[in-house]
Amino acid sequence: MQTIRGFRDILPEHIGLWQKVEQEAAALFTAFGYREIRIPVIEKTQLFARSIGEATDIVEKEMYTFEDRKGDKLTLRPEATASISRSYIQHKMYAVDPVRKFFMIGPMFRRERPQKGRYRQFYQIDAEVFGVESAYIDSELIFLLNELFKRLGLTGLTAHINSLGCPECRPAFQKALMDFLGDRKEVLCDNCTRRMKKNPLRILDCKVETCRQALEGAPATVDHLCPACEDHFNIVRSTLENQNVDFSVDKSLVRGLDYYTRTAWEIQTSALGAQSAVAGGGRYDGLVKELGGPQTPAIGFAIGFDRLVEVMDQLGKAPKEEPLDLFILPLGEGAMEKAYAWSCELNLLGITTQTDFRGRSMKSLMKRADKLNARYVLIAGESELAEKKLILRDMNTKDQVNIAMDCLADELKTIFKKNNKG
Ligand code: AMP
Repeated sequence: MQTIRGFRDILPEHIGLWQKVEQEAAALFTAFGYREIRIPVIEKTQLFARSIGEATDIVEKEMYTFEDRKGDKLTLRPEATASISRSYIQHKMYAVDPVRKFFMIGPMFRRERPQKGRYRQFYQIDAEVFGVESAYIDSELIFLLNELFKRLGLTGLTAHINSLGCPECRPAFQKALMDFLGDRKEVLCDNCTRRMKKNPLRILDCKVETCRQALEGAPATVDHLCPACEDHFNIVRSTLENQNVDFSVDKSLVRGLDYYTRTAWEIQTSALGAQSAVAGGGRYDGLVKELGGPQTPAIGFAIGFDRLVEVMDQLGKAPKEEPLDLFILPLGEGAMEKAYAWSCELNLLGITTQTDFRGRSMKSLMKRADKLNARYVLIAGESELAEKKLILRDMNTKDQVNIAMDCLADELKTIFKKNNKG
């Protein structure tokens, strides 16, 4: 049996980086008042179709959708924003305090063509803020991403930001885009032709060569912002500049989901070939209302966890595996019972300890200790038990000392403290 295409195991030898990122992200978000939320991996299909948009790649081609035994249409979540918004509305969070900051970490599912940095089950780290219209919160989210990447030692990342405008200014922009396209509409690909009516912004994101050529010199949303959107975007930019966050304005950035308004951004890397986006985010001031809640401004981002880990791996940021503190080497049945009890006791004290119950010889148990990269070995043979004196061997220096069995835990606590452990 093998995993299905696009799905993979993350094995214990690779988990160090994942845990490091999770800890740093949780600590940083918590410090900024973001609280963890956990949402189901399955929702009604309708939730994603309505929020992400019917005419998007995700909804048209990539969702894992199925009918359950009662015929309800369900989907494995392809992203988190829709579900978190659903939760915000379902629990009437807006009634108690409309301002909410969330983060979540978990798997998403999209049936894309698998390749390096692109999986069908992948992980995202999300942060979302509800109830704040101010541009300072846009800056805060981009600042947080920047800070997280800095703490993780990531270099070579660039933030691309853009403003997509709002329902106020979008009609004028769409008209300008249509006027510009004029006859060129004929050469657009089928997707673009179809999407032109529903969300013309998506044309700007098309990767098809003929569409790209047709769009050369096309109007940009930033050049058609209404005064309120322009002010908003100016504050985002000046705040980031004041905080020394590196970014560039990218007029062609639109992002693939329908619900975005105003600020949108992407963090890109050159380290992963074609899959260059490590994180993306944006404002979605209309979504809560669209899903049946009150008008509530909102904004958030998603980090591609798998890609982040791949970049960190390339930069040699994987944490070293900690060596085992102690291996207890039991010789004989009576020693095994003791070894078991001691290893439990020592592990509880924070001295990482393992032993072996297979009744093997001294030689093979020493090999095992080596394999486990143990710093010390505690030899518990029959004569040592009879004399109540165990032998502690330092695996680096090969020095051996005797330890009184009755004060084993105390003696070891002192030794590991001396070595900055325990
Ligand atoms: P999106 O939800 O499409 O804005 O994606 C946010 C981030 O998730 C992207 O910038 C990627 O880093 C990551 N991502 C999206 N799709 C995949 C995928 N199929 N495999 C791995 N990472 C992905």
